[in-house]
Amino acid sequence: MAATYDPNNIFARILRGEIPCKKVFENEHALAFNDINPQAPTHILVIPKGPYVDMDDFTAKASDAEVAGLFKAVGEVARQAGVVADGYRTLSNCGRDAHQEVPHLHIHIFAGRDLGGMIGRPKA
Ligand code: AMP
Repeated sequence: MAATYDPNNIFARILRGEIPCKKVFENEHALAFNDINPQAPTHILVIPKGPYVDMDDFTAKASDAEVAGLFKAVGEVARQAGVVADGYRTLSNCGRDAHQEVPHLHIHIFAGRDLGGMIGRPKA
């Protein structure tokens, strides 16, 4: 069962304008901004504007328009960032085993270098 949404999580506060972000794109249902601790030359987070904890919560409860708005935003952000030709990786951590840190759904976009293998080893 998905955790209860915490309206004071950091991305909710960004959406309310209480905390600044480096916005790169926005549509009706999604906001995209640079990750504060980039793991690649391009590292952008795309989040839904609605209160969804993670991918499970979002895909169970969001409207078709919200789902479309989020995934359209991912593609648009990648095109605007100019990373399509060389390639990019999307990733969304969901829950404990994925080490999700912020409990508001976010899709990472990584690009700008060889991104290596698909999945890491467990932390020691
Ligand atoms: P995850 O482990 O998938 O939950 O990733 C959370 C991501 O949020 C990390 O890559 C953090 O660097 C990023 N992050 C945390 N706080 C902020 C913030 N205020 N602005 C932008 N990115 C943030």
